[in-house]
Amino acid sequence: MTIHRILESWLLHANRRPKILIADDQPTNIKVLHELLGAQCDVFMATGGADAITICQRELPDLVLLDVVMDDIDGHEVCRLLKADPLTSAIPIIFITSQSQEADEVMALQLGAVDFITKPINPTIVNARVSTHLTLKLQGDLLRASALLDGLTGVGNRRKFDEDLLKDWRYTARKKEPLSIVMLDVDSFKRYNDQYGHQAGDVCLKSVARAISEALRRPYDSVARYGGEEFACLLPSTDLRGATVLAETIQACIRALGIEHAASDVAPVLTVSIGVASAMPTPSANPHDLIETADRQLYQAKRSGRARVCSIAAEFKLQDAQ
Ligand SMILES: [Mg+2]
Repeated sequence: MTIHRILESWLLHANRRPKILIADDQPTNIKVLHELLGAQCDVFMATGGADAITICQRELPDLVLLDVVMDDIDGHEVCRLLKADPLTSAIPIIFITSQSQEADEVMALQLGAVDFITKPINPTIVNARVSTHLTLKLQGDLLRASALLDGLTGVGNRRKFDEDLLKDWRYTARKKEPLSIVMLDVDSFKRYNDQYGHQAGDVCLKSVARAISEALRRPYDSVARYGGEEFACLLPSTDLRGATVLAETIQACIRALGIEHAASDVAPVLTVSIGVASAMPTPSANPHDLIETADRQLYQAKRSGRARVCSIAAEFKLQDAQ
C-alpha cells in the first residue's frame, strides 16, 4: 500500500492524519524524511533524544523514526526509555541507522523496535516501511478501541477508565493543573430491575450513559462504565468547583429524562447519586487515592438520602508514594 492510500484509510477510520516523530541530530536527514512524509502525515521533529522523549509523551505519535547516533541520549536508550513507560510503550519505533551489521539489526529488534531503515535514505523503502507500520498501528488502535468499549452502553469500560486515568494524571501533573473525578451511581437500581425487568434496566443504563456523554462538552473529558450501574467521569484541567457544577448538571439531566421508577424511595423518576473529588496530581502520588476519595463522597451522597451530589471540601493534598 502506498503512503497516499494510508492517509485515506486513517482519515476514514481514525478521522485524523497519522502523527510521525522524526528524531535525528542532523537537520538535513530530518528534511529528507519530512519531504517524503510531510504531505501525508503530521510530522514532529526532534534533534536530540531528550526532545524525542518529551514529544512522545506529549503527542503520543503513531510512529517514531529514530536515529541511533545522537549526542545527548542515543537512539537505543531513547527506545529503552519509551518502551519502559506504559504511556509510550505501544508507540512503534523504526530505527534509522547508518550501521547495517546484523548485530545492529538484532539489537534494534531486541530493544522492541518494529523495523529499521538504513542510511542513506531510499525513498521507496521509507514509504513502504512507514506505510506498513502505519497500517498495523491503525489496525491495532481500532482493535484496542473496540476492546475498551462497554458493550451495552457504548461508553468506555473499566479498562478504558484505568488507561485514561493514567494518561490524564500524567498530563495534568505536567501542566500543574487539577484533575477531577465524578463518580455516579444509579439510585435503587436493583429495585428498578426487580420492578421493570432486566431488559428495561439495560435500556435505562444506556439512557444514563448517553445523558452523561452529552453533558461532557470538552473532547478530553471522558466517561466510563465503572461497574454494574456505576459510571465515572475524568475531567482534566477542571477544578473542584467546575466538576461540582458539571455533576449537578448531569444529575439534573438524568432526572429530566423522566424515566419512571415507581420502586424508588427517593423520587418517582430515576435519579443518581454523585461523588466528586479533585486534586493536583504529582508524578509520584497514587491516582487511586483520588478514586477512593470520590468513592467516599459517592457513599456519603447515598447515606445522606441519595439523588444528590457530594463533593470534598477542597482539592486535597496527595501523599507521595515514596
Ligand atoms: Mg545521528
